[in-house]
Amino acid sequence: MAEILKGKPVADAIKEDLIAKIAEYKEKGIVAKVAILRVGARPDDLSYETRVLKNCDAIGMESQVVALPEDCTQEEYLAAMKSLNDDPLVHGILAFRPLPKQIDASAAADAIAPEKDIDCMNPKTVSKLFFDDMSGNAPCTPEACIAILKHYGYDLKGKNVVIVNRSMVLGRPLSMLFLHEHSTVTVCHSRTKDLPSVTRNADIVVTGIGRARFFGPEYFSEKNTVIDVGINAKPEGDGICGDADFDKAEPIVSAITPVPGGVGTVTSMILLRHVVDGIARL
Ligand code: NAP
Repeated sequence: MAEILKGKPVADAIKEDLIAKIAEYKEKGIVAKVAILRVGARPDDLSYETRVLKNCDAIGMESQVVALPEDCTQEEYLAAMKSLNDDPLVHGILAFRPLPKQIDASAAADAIAPEKDIDCMNPKTVSKLFFDDMSGNAPCTPEACIAILKHYGYDLKGKNVVIVNRSMVLGRPLSMLFLHEHSTVTVCHSRTKDLPSVTRNADIVVTGIGRARFFGPEYFSEKNTVIDVGINAKPEGDGICGDADFDKAEPIVSAITPVPGGVGTVTSMILLRHVVDGIARL
């Protein structure tokens, strides 16, 4: 039986810490505030926004939503970003992506002030990570993976970590975070040969390919701690599931995160932690 590495206790610990820090700042007359910059009204964005706003309420953080029409121009978008960058009362900006095609994604990424870039969007924030400079914000999901492992007492030094994903939102930044922790990292992808033999031999396996229950028992061994980042619609209907076939992996591995209730639960608290961390940077 594997240890189930639930996200809620991790998120709750971060939440408690944030509540205390926000209260301390309030006593000094600083009110922590996040701004969301949204274009149009994609259902995914709206549901993410609702979750972020609810979490803000729960920890006493102020929030502001700037919603631009779907057909706004690049100039309008960049002007909205600039006004949030320049607003001393805003400590972090979450800019939803993807953007409509009339807005150049890299111009948008360049436009966010690095010190308010809570989701590691600006290439300057990204490059800090690759220079092992941890003074900026890492992307929230990779940071959530590390936060879970640390919360449950894992010493990452010297551990063999296999990450199945090489994207810029997950695998690449996460590999830098693990290297910072002195882990030995292997990054796998769709061209990796004999993936099951690579994952089976790892101490820690991070699955993030976006395919429901792709990782069956042949990918796992009793050595593995599995961090499942995948979020997939259940093939049989209602609800979500991970990339690991939880029911078949759980009797084999030593520990595993559930989906739902694992990495995603922690990711949203990390985002708000970045806002509070940002106060000290401004
Ligand atoms: P992505 O850009 O599509 O990247 C998928 C990665 O998986 C690529 O590196 C791809 O390899 C690799 N891959 C695909 N099929 C594979 C296979 N059969 N064997 C080995 N590797 C394979 O996706 P993403 O944006 O990084 O997101 C990945 C997953 O994470 C999604 O399920 C997403 O929902 C989830 N996610 C979760 C959170 C959270 O908070 N929990 C946040 C963000 C994303 P190639 O590079 O060779 O194509």
